[in-house]
Amino acid sequence: HTTNMTASAAPEITPPIPHPESSTKQQVSNPPETSPTRPPALLHRSFTELPHKVIRASGNTLHLSNGRRILDACGGAAVAIIGHGNAEVIQSTTEQMHRVSYVHTMSYTTSSSEELAQCILKPFGASTFDHGLTKAFFVGSGSEANDAAMKCARQYWFEKGEVKRRVYVARKKAYHGNTLGAMSVSSILPRKVPYDDVLLPNVAFVSAADAYHGLVGKETEREYVGRLVDELEDEFLRLGPENVVSFIGETVSGAAMGAMPAPKGYWQAVRALCTKYNILLHLDEVMCGMGRMGTYFAFEQEGIQPDIVTIGKGLGGGYAPIAGMLINDKIVSGLRQGSSTFNHGQTYQAHPVSCATALAVQKIVKREGLVARSAAIGKKLERMLSEAFEGCEYVGDIRGGGTFWGIEFVKDRETRLPFSKVGLGSAIQLQAFELGVAVYPGSGTADGVLGDHVLLAPPYTATEEELQMAVDVLKQAYEMAVVQYA
Ligand code: PLP
Repeated sequence: HTTNMTASAAPEITPPIPHPESSTKQQVSNPPETSPTRPPALLHRSFTELPHKVIRASGNTLHLSNGRRILDACGGAAVAIIGHGNAEVIQSTTEQMHRVSYVHTMSYTTSSSEELAQCILKPFGASTFDHGLTKAFFVGSGSEANDAAMKCARQYWFEKGEVKRRVYVARKKAYHGNTLGAMSVSSILPRKVPYDDVLLPNVAFVSAADAYHGLVGKETEREYVGRLVDELEDEFLRLGPENVVSFIGETVSGAAMGAMPAPKGYWQAVRALCTKYNILLHLDEVMCGMGRMGTYFAFEQEGIQPDIVTIGKGLGGGYAPIAGMLINDKIVSGLRQGSSTFNHGQTYQAHPVSCATALAVQKIVKREGLVARSAAIGKKLERMLSEAFEGCEYVGDIRGGGTFWGIEFVKDRETRLPFSKVGLGSAIQLQAFELGVAVYPGSGTADGVLGDHVLLAPPYTATEEELQMAVDVLKQAYEMAVVQYA
């Protein structure tokens, strides 16, 4: 069941799969706001296409330098959970800058980082869910958080004397980040191409939890879960559980699959299997956590307790570059009984200003009941999407939860395969942008390895009017793109 990613050739993709965050690609019909007389000094993703220049962002609207206004229906890359320009967050950030702008965590700590850890780990709002996580570690990005988590898991086993545990088990159709570690456990093939033979070799891949593509014949979801879990068990046994560090998965698959929740019972069964074989369970909630799915952590909905959780994006809501790794007491006490250190450190870890900013965002989320609001407006968004796209020839699936929704486009609703010549999701995303709404793109690969989708991840503060506008524009963009490409 292991896929040796290094041996696979990249599938043919037309156009190339954009980076999961490249929602602001310049369009032919929308020339750059300013035409630089010489190439910019800033290294952009593309050397040939300039991104749009944003001169102001307020509420849920981006103001471009050419005077256009864009409704941000995906919070950038599912980041801006309370919109832009919040005065309270700005004030807390400024105050922290006046108080302590920076200290190195080797010798110092700050109230903002201590309070943020407490705030994240405390049961949230009305929830009494016991997640079992007891310590938080803050870094600057989701990729770094996943790398930290992979190292922490390995260190845990190493200090217990289980030094043979070297293999990470991850899933196909996964995205965990761009650093070498996080990319090693990811499976967006085009992103891995130049690095294939420098990524970690000790990664095994099992099937994604993808009920839309994965169900065979008359198989029920329950049977499908059983099959996925059998495959995972076979893989653990093939590798030898005593050689496995952790199993890593996005609780709800984001960038690569388009807001695809695992079938009910999947994570419970995976948790049971990891417990049976004493393998650490690492859930990546960088995109789907922090209230995005309508509960503070997405895994709460399966009632499970992971060993490690990584968070990012909504943690700072885009006001600061901050992400985190959360670990349970099993790992904490293992490390305590070992070297009594976490053998990992970065100059800007638990940065006091980033922590104060994230704390201000999280206090607003708690005070204003925004996790419940994410759940409530998500239900409305679901209704709007299904009304708008019901019966559309090339809409294969609408799925998600909370304020995290994906629409998958297919050439044929029977085979569920995407168009082979175009990424309809990317075409729709570009068209929607022309019409004034930003959504997050994904492009299918010709072999159907990745779904062809767009993602909506509006701020939890989005109004009903904004959601309706996003859906109406998306429908219009779909119709225009279909005429052009389908
Ligand atoms: N994990 C998941 C699930 C993500 O969606 C992302 C980013 O899209 C990452 C990790 C990487 O986070 P970052 O881009 O902040 O490094």
